[in-house]
This record gives sequence, C-alpha cells and structure tokens, in this order.
Amino acid sequence: MPAPPRLLRLLAAVTGILLTTACWTPPPDARPPMAETASLPLPRPDDMPGPRDTPAPSPPAAPLPLDGAVVVVDPGHNGGNADAAREISRAVPAGPSTKECDTVGSRTEDGYYEHEFTWELSLLVRDRLEEQGATVILTRDSDDGVGPCINERAKIGNEAEADAAISIHADGAAPGSRGFHVIVPGEVPGFTEPILESSYALGVALRDEFHAVTGHPYSDYLGEEGIDVRTDLGGLNLSTVPKVFLEVGNMRNPEDAAKLTDPEWRALAADGIVAGISRYLEEAPAR
Ligand SMILES: [Zn+2]
Repeated sequence: MPAPPRLLRLLAAVTGILLTTACWTPPPDARPPMAETASLPLPRPDDMPGPRDTPAPSPPAAPLPLDGAVVVVDPGHNGGNADAAREISRAVPAGPSTKECDTVGSRTEDGYYEHEFTWELSLLVRDRLEEQGATVILTRDSDDGVGPCINERAKIGNEAEADAAISIHADGAAPGSRGFHVIVPGEVPGFTEPILESSYALGVALRDEFHAVTGHPYSDYLGEEGIDVRTDLGGLNLSTVPKVFLEVGNMRNPEDAAKLTDPEWRALAADGIVAGISRYLEEAPAR
C-alpha cells in the first residue's frame, strides 16, 4: 500500500535536514570560539614523555689502562707534625719492634718543607693515575694535619687491598749527596715475606721509569743503582700489599733542591712515578 503523500513529504524533509547537517560546514566566522581549547594548560617540555626522559644511551667508554687498579699514595709526614711533638713521637708498632708514630721530615735551606713537597707531588700523581682509570687513595687528606702514624699509613693500604702502594719522601742527607732512591722491603721474618717479590718488582719498575722520564741520577749516598733494601721501616714491615718508598731527592743538596722546588720538575717527577706504577701494574699478575 503506497505511503500517504504527507508521510512521504515528512520523510523527505527529515532526510534533507540530516544530509544537510552531515555535510554542512559553518563559515569561518560562525565557528565556535577556540578560547576554551586554547586555555587548556599545555604540557610543559619537562612533563612530556619521550626522548627528554630517556636520553639516548651513550656509547660505552673506552677502557683505560688502569681500570680496576687500586693504588695507595702516601705523602710522607704532615704539616701539623712540628706542633704535635708528643703525639708524633709516641711509639707505635713497626714490625718486630716499635718506632715513632711519625716525624717532622726534612726541608730545603730556603724553607720548603718535605711534607709540602710530598703533598704537592702526591696530588699530581693521584690526578695522573685517576686519568688512567685507577682508584687512588691518599693516606692523608690535607697538608695541615698530624700524622697518621706509620702503622696507620700501612693499614690504609692493607685495608684497601691495594694493587700497589707508594710512600713519597725527600731526604735530609749531607748537602754534598744527591739523587733519588727507591726503598724496598727486606726480609723480616713473620712480616714481609708475602710482599718481598712483588714489592721488589714494583721498586725496579719505579726506579727504571722514574730515571728514564726525569733523568734524575741514582742516589750517590745510599743503595745500589737507585735501590735500597731496608728492614727497619714500619711502613714496609706492616704492609700486606706491594709497597715501596721513593726518596725523590736530597732536600739539603742545592742541585736537588732546585728541582724539588720547581713545579715543572715536580710534574715531570709525577709522570715518572706514574710510568713506574703503570709498568708494574701491567706486568703484575692479573688483577
Ligand atoms: Zn721523609
């Protein structure tokens, strides 16, 4: 039965409205204002997820020659020792016997003190070793304190399980004597046997490289060809890790003093020390 004409007209009208509504786009000036949308808070860059929150991984750093190595650097004496006579003169264990906790150290004729020299040189050595990847521990953290005592200095190396330990000094010998020497531990029953061989290897590497880099002569008053063996030093007797002393020069000798007081020469000396330690660590059994 055909739909009544009135219903058809109504259907046509509704369809036309729907079609018109679906396709109709209001002219620009008839669009609703955008203020509402524009006033919404925009995310700030810091809130936005993405690359800002997850920085691109950097390529792995190239391995350094001394990665994984632990080195203890012991700057001899300390700036406060001179005013702490009682404290530093007390007896402490030094192996089979006892010794003074510490001493004031030497000085040049012009008043450059050994504690100052050993501190400045040790910092240069530390910086160079760290640049090569080593972990470096100093036995004192300033140049105006007291001590630590010789047994404490040894203990710091032992507790760090250092791969190498070096105690830096300068001598106070007769003014006519000069040159450097490395002190290695001698055999002290019950104490030094475990470190004799490794300490000697460290001493030879240090002697060779320090001499090659600085051109500084071997001591003409102690040891043989720059190596002296001693059994009376608590810092060596109490060490359980490879350890040597370096007497860089004689502060009482004018030629040596001119070098020790020269910052450029100290930088060269630091290069020589680091070359020696590095060679020893490279040649030593795997860390
Ligand atoms: Zn000294």
